Amino acid sequence: MKHDILDIAKRRGFFWPSFEIYGGASGFYTYGPLGALLKLRIENVMRDYFMIKENCLLIEAPVLTTGDPWVASGHVENFTDMTIECQKCGEAYRADHLVEEKTSKSTDGLSLPEIQKLIRKNKIKCPKCSGVLGSVYDYNLMFKTFIGPGKNKVTSYLRPETAQTTYMPFKRLYEIGRKQIPLGVIQFGRSFRNEISPRKGLVRLREFSQAEVQFFIDPKEKNKHPKFNLVKNLKFSVLTKNDQKGKILKINDLVKKNLTNEWIAYFLARSMQLFEGVGIDKKKLTCRQHKDEERSFYSSDTWDIEFLSDNFGRIELVGIADRTDYDLKRHMELSKKDMKINLNGKKFIPNIIEVAYGIDRPLFCVLESCLKKDKDRVYFSFPPEIAPYQAAVFPLVRKDGLPGKAKEVYEMLRDEGFYVLYDEGFIGRAYYRQDEAGTIYCVTYDYDSLKDKAVTIRFRDNKKQVRVKIKDLAGILKKLMNRQIVFEKAGKLVK
Ligand SMILES: [Zn+2]
Repeated sequence: MKHDILDIAKRRGFFWPSFEIYGGASGFYTYGPLGALLKLRIENVMRDYFMIKENCLLIEAPVLTTGDPWVASGHVENFTDMTIECQKCGEAYRADHLVEEKTSKSTDGLSLPEIQKLIRKNKIKCPKCSGVLGSVYDYNLMFKTFIGPGKNKVTSYLRPETAQTTYMPFKRLYEIGRKQIPLGVIQFGRSFRNEISPRKGLVRLREFSQAEVQFFIDPKEKNKHPKFNLVKNLKFSVLTKNDQKGKILKINDLVKKNLTNEWIAYFLARSMQLFEGVGIDKKKLTCRQHKDEERSFYSSDTWDIEFLSDNFGRIELVGIADRTDYDLKRHMELSKKDMKINLNGKKFIPNIIEVAYGIDRPLFCVLESCLKKDKDRVYFSFPPEIAPYQAAVFPLVRKDGLPGKAKEVYEMLRDEGFYVLYDEGFIGRAYYRQDEAGTIYCVTYDYDSLKDKAVTIRFRDNKKQVRVKIKDLAGILKKLMNRQIVFEKAGKLVK
């Protein structure tokens, strides 16, 4: 649902523009109490999946890095956007985007002089003030700073991706991983891109969170993923580089038709499942292969999973790329440190399959997918794995000792390890607040509770209510969240 999300997000405390008391800065958002919890839970789902199911190692590197890694990776030279500034008002724009907006044609693969020519030919002016535009130039998206003072200060950058900070210590990780490949390494953390004029909320940030997974593999084994059989019959909506209209294809067909390798196909399927598991609407997800002219220079094959958003159009949630031996080779050339491994008598540089998730974008898509509207309320239908708060407790009225008793129930649930809120006031409003927070169960202590030692649980998604004994409450909530029982059978249904 359009726009509602931004409104609820600010009001309920999912996220809001950073530095807002000073007027803000585009591309920066602060996660509030609900959003920060939601983000943590989404990250936990990913961490558990890759560490437990895919046996990955977890690392954490600095976000501020010296310059050398980015010379090796090509970012110093190539991580640029074609930029153009208005001579009159000074506003800066992506030159290729201005051309695309004017001509409705793709500019993928066009060079800087070609874009410059199209700007002149189409007489493109400043969209804001109609002023004359200057010359197109390459603008590097990395934030640059210095480590230390004085003459010996070191030029450094805020990392534009976590990937290189995982590649640099490859040999050490290989030793720690007992010299085995495939070797999977996951890193969560912030990355930075000094975007020209980000105006898409959480979808285009200058500081953002990533979960990037790097698999170091034998280049001869790209079509031998050990668990490929588990996903090969799954079907998804797919756009290939030669067919950007799309159709439903079996994962196995991608490999059989030589559209990609087993490693990429496997993680396309797993990523689709992960996104669905955190509540993203699978009908809006598509696997899309990059066309040759849009693919990054370091990759031989790249796929994205895209979400079709009501608010922002197509949003890329994960990039899955065959980065070949490009990165390790470049680090070997520049650092002069050997990146080859010796496996059964043959020496080679491993290839890298990268599975690079954003966190902020999937979080936004979770909000968009889970936002539901009834005739008298809106609510987020977060799955139990990611709902910020699992339960809320309130007294039916604010008198006759009910608040004190309700607080006892609340404290008991906290002792049992639940994320639970206490609320009081008009019960209808309390429900409304919890629905907007996506809290799954609302527990009410009423006058009957004084006698029957039971409370009413109300389920967010269908507003049905069951009555359960207070002593059974924690156990029943746990079973509900683990999907061991259905709500209607969790207690005596209240008519
Ligand atoms: Zn202007």
